[in-house]
Amino acid sequence: MHDHSHNHHHHTYKSSEKRHLLLALLVNGLVMLLEFAGGLHTHSLALLSDAGHMLTHIFALGMSYFAIVLASRRFDDRRSFGYFRAEVLATFINALFLFCVTGLIVYHAIALLITPVPVREKEMVGIACIGLITNIVSVFLLKSDSEKDMNIRSAFMHVISDTASSVLIIAGGIVIYYKKLYFIDPLLSLLISVLILVWAWRLFKESANILLEATPKHIDIHAVKETLLSQVPEIKEIHDIHIWVITGNLYAATLHVRVANIPMAEGNSIMGKIRALLHENFSINHATIQLETDSDEKCLHQAGIHHSV
Ligand SMILES: [Zn+2]
Ligand SMILES: [Zn+2]
Ligand SMILES: [Zn+2]
Repeated sequence: MHDHSHNHHHHTYKSSEKRHLLLALLVNGLVMLLEFAGGLHTHSLALLSDAGHMLTHIFALGMSYFAIVLASRRFDDRRSFGYFRAEVLATFINALFLFCVTGLIVYHAIALLITPVPVREKEMVGIACIGLITNIVSVFLLKSDSEKDMNIRSAFMHVISDTASSVLIIAGGIVIYYKKLYFIDPLLSLLISVLILVWAWRLFKESANILLEATPKHIDIHAVKETLLSQVPEIKEIHDIHIWVITGNLYAATLHVRVANIPMAEGNSIMGKIRALLHENFSINHATIQLETDSDEKCLHQAGIHHSV
């Protein structure tokens, strides 16, 4: 009865995709190291913050790379879902780490706002220019693909905001050069920490929801029930329905379906219809359906009893 295909366990990725990711990782890593060393040398917290921001890129790129590598690992009886959730777990830990990075930046920014420290603004501007150039190159690399792919589009919007923050650091450095207003540097850091926080919060929310087995946000359980009840007239009632995300866009569902006291073969074709509807309308490709008949004793799960420990 478990005849539905499991081919979603085998993703195939082009090796060029892996190569592009590695290249992007290398460039971001170099710029981050440069900004980190430069931030320490010039006493610019803005540069250090931007290095922290670069770290978020490295996490994101690293996650994508990690996901490709893990998806090619075979699943077995011990880990029947393979390593899909490893990606989610890593994202959750990344988000917590980024919260710490943000806290560290805010702490130092406040200290520097109270007692500003002179920065070496000329070198600061020079290093920020290198960051700006890499961001502009990224904008042009992503621009052509951003109309086709939603993920690339969001990456594109991201590098646009990165370019803006590079420009702000350069402008800040120039103002510091002429006016010696050293509080501008921690002010810029606070701005960058907000960007990191927004990013970290998104990662935190998405991964926490997956770990809590929350219903994916684009799926409405009531709509699923309505669709099944209206499209499959044999269904009398549906209860104990769970829909959750394994990882990325791999969705799973379990549900109890009450039907008349019919032969097994008919039950099979009903389950086939349900599976097809779930797949076509809601992209759920891993559904487990429990059929129950009127003659059954009242199903305990009907009242959600197994949900209370
Ligand atoms: Zn960025
Ligand atoms: Zn349940
Ligand atoms: Zn039941």
